[in-house]
Amino acid sequence: MLTVSAHRLQGPDVMQDATDHHDGVIQPRLIVFHFTAISFGDTLAKFKHGTPGNRVSAHLVVARNGQIVQFVDFNLRVWHAGPSVWSGLSDINSHSIGIELANAGTVSQTGAQWIGEEGVAVPADEVIEARHKNARWPMTHWHRYADAQIEACRAMTSALLRAYPIDDIVGHDDIAPERKYDPGPAFPLAAIRESAFGERHPKT
Ligand SMILES: [Zn+2]
Repeated sequence: MLTVSAHRLQGPDVMQDATDHHDGVIQPRLIVFHFTAISFGDTLAKFKHGTPGNRVSAHLVVARNGQIVQFVDFNLRVWHAGPSVWSGLSDINSHSIGIELANAGTVSQTGAQWIGEEGVAVPADEVIEARHKNARWPMTHWHRYADAQIEACRAMTSALLRAYPIDDIVGHDDIAPERKYDPGPAFPLAAIRESAFGERHPKT
């Protein structure tokens, strides 16, 4: 079981790896899920070091095997959402916990090989055919999320709901629908919201 103590996630599969990619103090009201499109290792390097002018971060990154790395305490503002709005709030970075999932995103076939949008090779049995809920995005094939990763998401959302007055759990594609399509149709967002909120599920 995961718990939150002093704005940090505690549990057997959680590592802390502090980065200075943050600014300001927040009171989290939303959880926002993303996919990285790049590998877990490349994501860790990007969030830790980045480059001037391209400094990004999230609070948590989740590997396909369920391992979790926390970069920034949950009460600090990180840079994952960009221009964004949700339910009367804008600048969602100032109101949210950002969670990135190692996932290749959209995939396409080159010969016998499936390749993600940022060049990550994806085994054929990890490719699913699905349509995005936003008709703006016509892509048809996506990288399946691993079961261990989804279980980690359920565990962390329930720990976060016990620690913070979270109003909703959303995708980047909900808060910036004109620009973003992650975490996309392969991610079971509706099931995670329902198991997290149960009877007090705020929206459909
Ligand atoms: Zn995103």
